Amino acid sequence: MTDSPKPPETVRLTPGKRVLFLTKDPELIKRQLAGELDLTMDDVTVDDLLDDVNTDAMTPAWVCFSHRPEDIARDAYAGLIVDGERLFARDALRDGNFEVIVSGYRKGTGSSRETAVQAEKWSGIRIAIAASFAPIHARNNVNQGVLMGDHEVLRRLQAGEGVPLEEFTEGYDPISKLVIRHGGLFPFSKALAAGEIDLPHPDTPPRPMTMAEKLLARHLLGTGDGDAGRYVKPGDAVVVEVDGGYSHEFTTAQVHHFLEEEFGPGYEIQDPERFAVFEDHLIYADDVPKMRAFTDKIDTLRDLQREFQGHTGARDFSAKDRVSPGICHEVAREKLVEPGDFIQATDSHTCMGGVNNALAWGVGATEYANLIHAGFTMVEVPESIRFELDGELPEGVTAKDLMLYVLLHYARPQMTLNRVMEFTGPGVANLSMDERATLTNMATECSARTAIVVADEATFRWLREWRPGGDETRWRERAVAPDPEAEYAGGVHRIDLSAMRPMVAHPGDPDRGIPSDPTNGAPIDQLGEVEVDIAYGGSCTAGKIDDLEFYHRVVEEAVEAGLTVHPRVRFLIQFGSQAVEEHCRRRGMMETFERAGVTLIQPGCGACIGCGPGVSESPDQVTVSAINRNYKGRSGPGKLYLASPLTVAASAFTGTITAYKPGMFVRELVPA
Ligand code: SF4
Repeated sequence: MTDSPKPPETVRLTPGKRVLFLTKDPELIKRQLAGELDLTMDDVTVDDLLDDVNTDAMTPAWVCFSHRPEDIARDAYAGLIVDGERLFARDALRDGNFEVIVSGYRKGTGSSRETAVQAEKWSGIRIAIAASFAPIHARNNVNQGVLMGDHEVLRRLQAGEGVPLEEFTEGYDPISKLVIRHGGLFPFSKALAAGEIDLPHPDTPPRPMTMAEKLLARHLLGTGDGDAGRYVKPGDAVVVEVDGGYSHEFTTAQVHHFLEEEFGPGYEIQDPERFAVFEDHLIYADDVPKMRAFTDKIDTLRDLQREFQGHTGARDFSAKDRVSPGICHEVAREKLVEPGDFIQATDSHTCMGGVNNALAWGVGATEYANLIHAGFTMVEVPESIRFELDGELPEGVTAKDLMLYVLLHYARPQMTLNRVMEFTGPGVANLSMDERATLTNMATECSARTAIVVADEATFRWLREWRPGGDETRWRERAVAPDPEAEYAGGVHRIDLSAMRPMVAHPGDPDRGIPSDPTNGAPIDQLGEVEVDIAYGGSCTAGKIDDLEFYHRVVEEAVEAGLTVHPRVRFLIQFGSQAVEEHCRRRGMMETFERAGVTLIQPGCGACIGCGPGVSESPDQVTVSAINRNYKGRSGPGKLYLASPLTVAASAFTGTITAYKPGMFVRELVPA
């Protein structure tokens, strides 16, 4: 990898280079790419610009089958589809001679894939302009040495003004400022190793702390004795030890590639037994006709992951006989993540580990490579927002409905943005550990940094069941709870679980500028009739034991009422891990699913990344899915409604999006 040159102290536009505005009007993008149009901030308003440019649009899954950034850049924005066609042809971004790219709000939402930044950077982009950036994406820009600014900065640059570099580092913590000044994480780390950088140490005095703050404070490195340094506050830049992490076959090849490039082929990682590799994301890609063209590239990714695992000695969760042990986040919470841990992994749903009262979030390949090499990482202590859960969910309402409610009412107005979502309150006790895992899993859809659930007896009981012989004393000692006076910049919000209703997130109308987004929440009773073609239950969000119990509850009722899956609908259920599949077998659930006509899929990721059975094949198909995100094109070209496992299963039998009610099929057969 080529080191990013340090950015100049005064940033100016390069004469002859261009600025690309990602406008809501696709025609304007086409004309800019064709070299027929150059826009300035005088020609557009922020409202004219695309919001929620997500990382799937920037680099769809198939683009990430290449692990070299220069190859990835050739298909930059391949996922931006208008009228069934790519808006950006191959090499269009690179050949357009652009150095600045401009969009609206929440640039880089979606997965944590760093390839989105690489696609821009290796196409010549050195400045990204947006009204706001999704946190992980912003972090990836910092790590890759891509400067970020707002539309006012661009206005000044386009007027010929030189903007001090300081302005591009404003608002960042002291360590991130240093990373930006050095042109990215690797050049920064090398300067650090060479003794050229003195890291700032936090000197926050004793104060009440949130769960996230407590956890980070305990992981501080180089803080000396006494109380000083054992307290942190939001905005503190800290160097922290990492307890563990993992990557999967979609990302490991890049990690390996970067480490070899930066530290030579004999590189080593710190404490390999704390880090793991998983084979879960591309395990069923061969079953998707569109993916068959990439078989060779996928095989290369698998081979490189094996090479990495052999080279480093990281824990191995590879597939055996082409069967994955399960989705990395599910297996990680079952086997790896402990209360009080600080976990980093190369996937945005790493946040799911917060269910075990750990702090866990996704990072890009560069950051991951850097931290497994060093054994520590740099963090700006995030702000927190707290949800005090009260009461009990009504019959037929699940944690997924609760999260669709949180997405609509708290994430949409950006209250969760880049904050740690803490779930506390008496209502937590009324949610199973699997249901709590749905809450932490979907923190990334909230554009939050992560989520964490307070530990209670159910947490330790669950850990005992999953890890017989585990060190319960250690779990209890390391578990964190918020201090009574802890400060929550995002506020403390009481949610009455008994007031929740079955929800969906609708697919919007992306072609009219209403993106398909998990925050498009709507109660099902206000939805009208929506016919479905595909019902999908699975993913890290909804492939847990309780989710399978939800599907089974509905399927069993339907089968007992003499029903099979609606003739128009394909109903697919995929297990989150081998342990989940074994549970279903033990409970005799497989027979019920089979009698109903459900297609069962072995553990792993699949349709939710467009790489497994259950993806839509044409734009007119409608899917109701228990997965976590409905970004356009992610699971095929059709429309995708997010819903709870109960809703997915009920809809599979009725053929329209339907909330589950106990006894609903019996009532259908025997009208009152
Ligand atoms: S199940 Fe889907 S969302 Fe979850 S980790 Fe796999 S690809 Fe990502």
